[in-house]
Amino acid sequence: MRSQLTLVAALLAALLGMLTAPAAEAADPIRVLIVDGQNNHDWERTTPYIKRFLEETGRFNVYVVTTPPKGAKPAAWNGFRPQFEDYDVVLSNYNGETWPETVRNEFEAFVKRGGGVVNVHAANNPFPDWPAFNDMIGLAWRRADFGDRLVLDDDGKPVRFKAGEGSGAGHGPRYPYPVVVRDRKHPVLEGFPAEWMHPADELYHGQRGPALNMNIVATAYSDSSKRGTGYHEPMVWWIPFGEGKVFTTVLGHVGRNQKQDEWPMRCQGFQALVTRGCEWVATGEVTIPLPENMPTAEEVSLAP
Ligand code: ZN
Repeated sequence: MRSQLTLVAALLAALLGMLTAPAAEAADPIRVLIVDGQNNHDWERTTPYIKRFLEETGRFNVYVVTTPPKGAKPAAWNGFRPQFEDYDVVLSNYNGETWPETVRNEFEAFVKRGGGVVNVHAANNPFPDWPAFNDMIGLAWRRADFGDRLVLDDDGKPVRFKAGEGSGAGHGPRYPYPVVVRDRKHPVLEGFPAEWMHPADELYHGQRGPALNMNIVATAYSDSSKRGTGYHEPMVWWIPFGEGKVFTTVLGHVGRNQKQDEWPMRCQGFQALVTRGCEWVATGEVTIPLPENMPTAEEVSLAP
């Protein structure tokens, strides 16, 4: 009798454990898959750097999948079959040749079903011939005739240029500039200063694309005296795609052999965008606190 009671107690305990499991799962790490392998930027050094600052928040487990190098034979791509469904977020640190059709289809399905995407810097450069990807990113590094262009004027009002009208994608020399938050209630940007000084970086302008369902959350003024456009260019935005969210920032240029002292990826504002962006596209909420030493309107602040 006693052993039967012990058994019942054990079963009850196990059942209780199963019942409380969902609460434990809520605190489980978010699974992020970084995709790299081709880029005209220093992906070999920036991927481990991004992985580290994501993991330092304690909120993520980060994995990396690397494509074959540029010019690889088609057979080499057979080994590139990321199982997107095993992750909550795909972070693209990729700017290169198009992926095999199967992989593109699986990526689209992943986002449509609610998967999150975060694109960093040149990740909005590739895949001009992939319509769904262009829909996801809205604005891309393309020629002027590729699609619309969307900027803000000095009053913060959107200004749309039709394909072929005005300049295509480009940037002037790298210089430090303030990034202006346009949606201070957005969970990722909540608590950010209204504007923050970003260290010397490329300031993308004239980006082109379908530019539909764009939610521009931060911009930077592209100074005409620095070969810019005189408009407030989108720096951070997000687009819903199916059930998923695609969060893009064009901040964070790191060229090959660029000294780490000069990496704009060290900007505390940039790192907060990427960590909180990953959490938000995965869960719809942000719990990762802002770093204590956020940059201000006057001063940049760099992570160690
Ligand atoms: Zn760049």
